[in-house]
Amino acid sequence: MGSRSSMSTIDNPSVLYVTLGCAKNEVDTDRMRALLLEDGFGEADTVEDADAIIINTCSFLASATSESIETTLELADNVAAGVRSRPIVMCGCVPSRYGDELKGELPEVSAFVRADEEDGIVRVVRNVLGMGEPPMQDVCGQALRTIEGTSAYVKISDGCDRFCSFCAIPYIRGAYYSRPADEIVAEVHRLMEGGVREIVLIGQDTGIWGSDFKPRRTLSDLLRLVAEEVRPYGGWVRVLYLQPEGMTDELIATIRDTKEVLPYIDIPIQHCCEGILSRMNRSGSIEELRALFDRLRSEIPGMVLRTTGMAGFPGETDEEAEELASFIAEQEFDYTSVFAYSPEEGTAAAEMADQIDEDVKLERTQRLIDIAEAMGFAATARHVGERVKVIVDGVEQGERGPELIGHAWFQAPDSDGAIHIEEGEATVGDIVSCDLVDSFCYELIGVMVEDGDDL
Ligand code: SF4
Repeated sequence: MGSRSSMSTIDNPSVLYVTLGCAKNEVDTDRMRALLLEDGFGEADTVEDADAIIINTCSFLASATSESIETTLELADNVAAGVRSRPIVMCGCVPSRYGDELKGELPEVSAFVRADEEDGIVRVVRNVLGMGEPPMQDVCGQALRTIEGTSAYVKISDGCDRFCSFCAIPYIRGAYYSRPADEIVAEVHRLMEGGVREIVLIGQDTGIWGSDFKPRRTLSDLLRLVAEEVRPYGGWVRVLYLQPEGMTDELIATIRDTKEVLPYIDIPIQHCCEGILSRMNRSGSIEELRALFDRLRSEIPGMVLRTTGMAGFPGETDEEAEELASFIAEQEFDYTSVFAYSPEEGTAAAEMADQIDEDVKLERTQRLIDIAEAMGFAATARHVGERVKVIVDGVEQGERGPELIGHAWFQAPDSDGAIHIEEGEATVGDIVSCDLVDSFCYELIGVMVEDGDDL
């Protein structure tokens, strides 16, 4: 909680942080928060309590850009309704994508900060508040995080060089670069010392981590280093956003043989038909994907698979749409996110002539969602009867009053289902054992049992 200042001479200014989009943005916001805290800024919970507002935006899809702008305008309305001005600083993907165009379009915003400029956030916020220059902050290579909760995302890379034809990320986040291993390990170390027990490694394309180093390094090297850091604490490591080509023999062996690395893999396939994949500027075919998933399941005991499918890519025929639906059904993925293709400004696919009608896209999307849910709900139900460790994430209002909510090893925080703990007492952040007694949709019902408190 930050303290509130009242006049233009600001002694203990507070910042309200609003984060939109994915977990990668949460990590970036946290880094900015850590830099500002180090400079003496407090944190505000409401517009009313804030001296400045940082909105970290998403521009992955046109709808995300619209949401970012609408949220910014709502914040500006709230500021205008108050008795004093509070500058708004817009950060992240929208400024990265639209740059100087925004200055004329959004006069409500006092400063725009691209994703690659966020380490200079202290200077920007001081500037918009009319404060003096900050003391020199050497943030290069620092593992800056605030520590909250028992699970933490750690970004291992940024940018992307793949240029999938539907995706704006390479234009927004720039070229791929890996964070150095020592910086990542230092961040993990601090998080574990601060009470975190689950590390979730993220990036646009985690599988090629280290390929830009000389000599080249691999995600397996990094996983082994991170596993060593979490081992003394009995912690978990989870890795998200692996492209199919990133699943090397070495990586499969590392996941299989490293106890701390969860047998949970998130591989966004987008499609399974070779022709569509090729026009997406991606590689692979249904046979290759089938072989990969068969291999993962046979070599890694208990393998849990998450994927992403896209409906209505330009030129997708009825047969190709059906083939993707059948593949998702056949593979019985534990979790499948489904997206309707949306033409993103500046991407190659947006220029393709054979765009699919919205009605057809929606129909195909719904069909994929129905199949994905049927498979996912069944996969969730298969956990009933297990005894699992659960990280308690919060409290929600259940049918019978407030209940604890948590997640187990087979559920990525914030993206998959949750465990509703119907009996037992615990505090948010605790690790408890639960017998899973029932399920509904992607959710499970757990009853707490005494069985130690390590993961
Ligand atoms: S791998 Fe493809 S979909 Fe993923 S961020 Fe890179 S370009 Fe976009």
